[in-house]
Amino acid sequence: MSSSASRRTILWFRRDLRLADHPALLAATQNDAVIIPTFIWSPDEGGAWKPGAAGKWWLHQSLAALDNALRDLGSRLIVRRGNALEELRRLAAETKAQAIYWSRQYEPTAAKRDSKIEKELREDGLEVHTFNGALLFEPWEIANAEGEPYQVFTAYWRNCSKQLRRQAPSGAPRKLQAPGRWPESVELEALQLEPSVDWVGGLRENWTPGEGGARAQLERFLDRSLGHYADQRNRPDVEGTSRLSPHLHLGEISPGQILHAMDQNPDSDGREMPASRRSFLSELGWREFAHHLLHHFPHTVDQPLRDQFAAFPWKDDSKLLRAWQKGRTGYPIVDAGMRELWTTGWMHNRVRMVAASFLVKDLLIPWQRGAEWFWDTLVDADLANNTLGWQWTAGCGADAAPYFRIFNPVSQGQKFDPLCDYVRKWVPELRELPDRYVHAPWEAPDSVLAEAGVKLGQQYPEPIVDHAEARNRALAAYEKIKKKSQ
Ligand code: FAD
Repeated sequence: MSSSASRRTILWFRRDLRLADHPALLAATQNDAVIIPTFIWSPDEGGAWKPGAAGKWWLHQSLAALDNALRDLGSRLIVRRGNALEELRRLAAETKAQAIYWSRQYEPTAAKRDSKIEKELREDGLEVHTFNGALLFEPWEIANAEGEPYQVFTAYWRNCSKQLRRQAPSGAPRKLQAPGRWPESVELEALQLEPSVDWVGGLRENWTPGEGGARAQLERFLDRSLGHYADQRNRPDVEGTSRLSPHLHLGEISPGQILHAMDQNPDSDGREMPASRRSFLSELGWREFAHHLLHHFPHTVDQPLRDQFAAFPWKDDSKLLRAWQKGRTGYPIVDAGMRELWTTGWMHNRVRMVAASFLVKDLLIPWQRGAEWFWDTLVDADLANNTLGWQWTAGCGADAAPYFRIFNPVSQGQKFDPLCDYVRKWVPELRELPDRYVHAPWEAPDSVLAEAGVKLGQQYPEPIVDHAEARNRALAAYEKIKKKSQ
């Protein structure tokens, strides 16, 4: 069939920037249809949470990688910007497309916009087909015995685990049918996704965005770290986790592909522990749970799920917030994490919990300020996961850490960075200190500090708060809202 006689379909790429295991693409390519792969940059349509700086950098690289991969199949990516509905209408008219295919998004504002677009396009006489390209379970598929959304992870995941489908993911198409003439496309550079200041050197050094990079990272994880995941996932000083989060966020890899690869990679050297697979799988489960919660409780992006926290006596303090953002709190594990974040766009999960806890409990700064900073600086910034992470830490979300359990940044450092390698890497000012003082340099005698070249209060700060006092203050603040809600 010649391309002029074929059915023409717009494949609207959003957060599914891959070609393999792509249900929308697979369905669109049936019957040799002509495909017009399209990306539309409409940052204002996601609500208040416009893509942050690190996320935009990643998006640029990922779109470039997708365009290259499409060109290998005889196709290309059409890039547009502006109102998504108008651009889709224009594109459909220009290309005489009969159908539009996309993968569903679940964030409240995006989902609402998509419903409107779907309705309007149908009224225009276009076919619209949407698919699940991102999750193992769509948020509405799982409910408790009363038909209500879950608010406790273990019960949610137990239910999911019973229904987990394990099927071989589809491969990428070998060729894509191109239209006789391509519609107009703007240059990727015109979207200005990359920051003008060169802060991204560390991002470039640490990551390979795109489907190929995601696949390579998965293989590396399966080879090197999965076997030890249960033991090492809490250690920021080793490569104990998958680092797949930014790839998952933009859909460069699907959770189904990860599951399948894990099943295909049986114990290669006899050391595989079932506990590690279970533990890793349940982290993917937290991602599912985060989407479930955000779908059912859309207000949680900036309001606490547990109402009593609306009256929490937070203390917004820009100077303390700035010290936290810059990694200058005087608590080495917190500072190491915040500097890792600034340099690489990523922070280890254990350190995210410690650094976030320090902000909301030691400094009493509202969790929303932390969520905003993470949103702008994380390459994996994800509305569902970030909201869950912050509400969990602040104690105001579903299945959250109890408020009174307050992380001690010194003992957390000693426990999870026992050789001090992580702190020494990111806080080089403390590199020469003996291990026993690295996580609490203020405890070192003057002579030890002098010998290590550490000048507290000068090149490395004194602690900006006393943890023991801060802990008491936080507990007293919590008592206030507890009393009010009784
Ligand atoms: P792995 O341990 O290899 O886990 C595999 C995958 O499971 C991850 O890639 C991620 O998709 C998912 N996952 C793991 N832990 C969690 C979790 N606690 N919640 C939800 N999904 C999880 N994750 C994000 O992807 N984006 C965010 O914006 C984000 N913000 C966070 C903010 C705070 C305050 C906290 C405490 C956690 C946040 N997380 C976020 C969750 C978690 O820290 C990261 O997903 C994880 O560190 C990514 O590293 P990894 O891919 O090596 O994880």
